[in-house]
Amino acid sequence: MLLTEEMIQEKVAALAQAIDRDYSGRVPVLVGVLTGATIFMADLIRKLQIPVEMEFMAVSSYGAGTESTGVVRILKDLNSEVTGRDLIIVEDIVDSGLTLAYLQSLLRARDPASLRTCVLLDKAERRETDVALDYIGFTIPNAFVIGYGLDYGGLYRQLPFVGILDPSAI
Ligand code: 5GP
Repeated sequence: MLLTEEMIQEKVAALAQAIDRDYSGRVPVLVGVLTGATIFMADLIRKLQIPVEMEFMAVSSYGAGTESTGVVRILKDLNSEVTGRDLIIVEDIVDSGLTLAYLQSLLRARDPASLRTCVLLDKAERRETDVALDYIGFTIPNAFVIGYGLDYGGLYRQLPFVGILDPSAI
C-alpha cells in the first residue's frame, strides 16, 4: 500500500479546489488520458464547482510490460475543436514524461487559449524529458504502481488505493 483511499480522496479535493480558484469564471476542457486517468477524472470533476467540459484521448503506452517504449501513437483523438479553449490535461501518472510531452505538443499545436497539466502521481526521478506539471497530487518513488485507474496487464484498475506491485507478481 502506497496511498490509501482516504489520502487520494483528500488530495483530489485539494486539486479540485486549486483548479476552481485558478479557473474561476472560465469553462476549461479537461482532457483525460485513457485508460488510466478515468477514475481520477471521474473523482476530480465531481469535486469541481466551476463548469467544465470533459474529453478523452487515447495514446499507446505500456501494453502488458512495465517499461516505457517511448513510442507514442494516438489511438483516439478529441471529439471537438479546442482552439481558443482553456485545456487541462488530466493524467494518472508521469514516469519518463514522454507520453505527456507528446500530448502537450500535440494540443499546443491546436492553439488553445491555455494549456495546463494535472497529474495525480509524479515519478519525478524517472523523468527523461522536460515537461511542465501545473497540478501534482503526489510525488512517488520509482516503483511500478497499480490501482486507482492504473493497471498491470489490464488488471487492478478498480482498486480504490494505489499499491506497489510485488515484483513476484510480474
Ligand atoms: P511515461 O511516458 O511518462 O513514461 O509513461 C506514462 C504512462 O505510462 C502512464 O500514463 C501510464 O499509463 C504508464 N505508467 C508509467 N508508470 C506506471 C506505473 O508505475 N504503473 C502503471 N500501471 N502504469 C505506469
